[in-house]
This record gives sequence, C-alpha cells and structure tokens, in this order.
Amino acid sequence: MTHAEILKNILDFVEASARAGQAPLVYFDLDSTLFNVKPRLKKIMREFGHLETTASKYPSASQTLKVVEEISESYHLHDHMKHFGLENQPMEFYKELYNYWMENFFHSDYLLEDVPNEGAVEYVNELYGLGARIVYLTGRDKHRMEEGSILSLKKWKFPMNETNAVLVLKPHKDHDDAEFKRDHFNAIQDRRHPIWFFENEPHNIHLLLKDSPHVKIVFFDSVHSGKSEPPAGLPVVTNFKYKR
Ligand SMILES: [Mg+2]
Repeated sequence: MTHAEILKNILDFVEASARAGQAPLVYFDLDSTLFNVKPRLKKIMREFGHLETTASKYPSASQTLKVVEEISESYHLHDHMKHFGLENQPMEFYKELYNYWMENFFHSDYLLEDVPNEGAVEYVNELYGLGARIVYLTGRDKHRMEEGSILSLKKWKFPMNETNAVLVLKPHKDHDDAEFKRDHFNAIQDRRHPIWFFENEPHNIHLLLKDSPHVKIVFFDSVHSGKSEPPAGLPVVTNFKYKR
C-alpha cells in the first residue's frame, strides 16, 4: 500500500466509524512525527556557536556553528557534528554542547521553531472534521514544555479544544516515554472505539505492540533514537500527504 493509501484508508475508516455512532480516536506523537524538529536544533547549534565561552575556547567550531544551515537526518549529536566537520573537538566541547542542547531542546521557548511535516496540518484537520477525536500524545513533559507545545499547535492551526482535540504530556520528565504512552493507552476503559497512533520511535512502538494490542499503530519513518530496530509489518508513512 502506498503512503497516500494508508492515510486515505484511515480517513475512510474514521468517517465510517463516526457515521456508525462510534467516536474514533487518532493519536499523534509530536517530535519527528507531526513536527520536524530540525529548525529547533539549528537554532540551538547557532546559539551555542554564538556563546562567548564557545567563541573563546573553540573559535573555529564557533565560526562553523554560528552559520549552520542544513541539519542532517539524525537523532544523535555526534552525527550532526560529523556532518559539520566537527568530529575532532576536545571532549569538553561535546560536553558543553550536550548540556546546552539538553537545557534548551526540551524547553517551551524553542518549540515555536518546529515546523509541521508535510501535509500534517491538513491531515489532522481532515480527520477532526470527519469526527475523529484527536490526541497529541507526547514524551514532552508538562513542566518544561506544555506552554510551548500549545502555542506551537495553535500557531500551525492544528485542532485544539478541551474535549475532542487534546494535548497529553508526561507529568514528569523522568518518566520513560514508552511506558508513559503504554500506560496511557492501557488506562482507556472504553475499548469500543477504534484507536490509531502515529509514532516515529520504534522503541515506543515495540512496547505498545507487546502490551497494547488494542492500538493500531502507523510507523512514521523519520529519525529515531536507534534504541530499537524499526518495527516490521506495520503501515509506514514518511509524510502526511493524502488524497481523497
Ligand atoms: Mg517522536
């Protein structure tokens, strides 16, 4: 099945099930599923390059980072450094960069940099219009990232309201993402309604396949941690471009 067919089938199924009086649920992960986070990463790299400490301790790396343009398709900082030709810096440099990234990547202020993946806004709105309940289920935590997540979803005109299009974040940053999502799905009492979940992280998907068979998963193949192999046998999409 092509990507567009996978997406269209879900639209058709949602429409039919809403007509039949069900309330289908469609869940979306945010980072690297609905949103491309590369612009967020770019801002952080550039800012780190501009820091006075970076400029004085690592002048050449600072020059490079200040003007980075293209961010590579990877989840890992060392791949990005390799991409920029910065794989031979002192260990201290990577530690400082990592700390700066940790401090800011998971911070509301930076989430407005993200851009939706192709077709995402239209697709989620289409589902919503057909009667799906939408849930944004993310490993972002409430304390550091709720405000920016709401602003960013609203900025791009994803459906948002109190009942049928809601954001669910982790109550605490130290919760394991996969377990948090699994526990959320397994707490759903009413299993009469179909549930789909679009997710990019294989590690999360494997736990759901094992523990939450009531969820139909679509693998969004973008970047991921590499903690687990991509799942086999699931529908796969790389964007949200659909035709009806
Ligand atoms: Mg993700």
